[in-house]
Amino acid sequence: MNEKIRIATTSLAGCFGCHMSLLDIDERLLDLIQLVEFDRSPINDIKQVGQADVGLIEGGIANTDNLEVLEQFRSHCRILVAVGACAINGGVPAMRNQYSVKECLEESYTNCMGVENPQIPNDPEIPLLLNQVHPIHELVKVDYFLPGCPPSGDAIWTFLNELIEGRPISLPYTQIHYD
Ligand code: SF4
Repeated sequence: MNEKIRIATTSLAGCFGCHMSLLDIDERLLDLIQLVEFDRSPINDIKQVGQADVGLIEGGIANTDNLEVLEQFRSHCRILVAVGACAINGGVPAMRNQYSVKECLEESYTNCMGVENPQIPNDPEIPLLLNQVHPIHELVKVDYFLPGCPPSGDAIWTFLNELIEGRPISLPYTQIHYD
């Protein structure tokens, strides 16, 4: 029997909606686990990425922790896939790019309605925000882009099957969308 394809997944500056779409392949998950095994992923709660064939990245790069995880995935995964709008173009989190980090922090922690004891957190364990939210291709080489917010479960299923079987990726028109 051939060795199973090893897949790692992570959510950076995203909402986990793309991971929910992965689960949305429903009973086909049973077929998928005949073909793949999961490395680091919220699905199995493994915290560190090992050597993997495919890395699925949800979310863009908003802070130093996102950047570190992205670089680990790039160096450990043979094929890296930007999954969803946030990984591909920054998505909703990138809406903050028109403001400075100082303005964002003040709006969240000191100026907005209902804040009591206003103070901007400065615990050294909190990852530092980057000045801008970046799509992942601005920072590392990306092999495939799977659009959508989120891509549908069917699109993820088609994509993974074609990748596993070594065919050119060719999603049907009905599975390609950008919203
Ligand atoms: S692309 Fe959409 S569903 Fe996926 S992480 Fe971003 S906001 Fe969530």
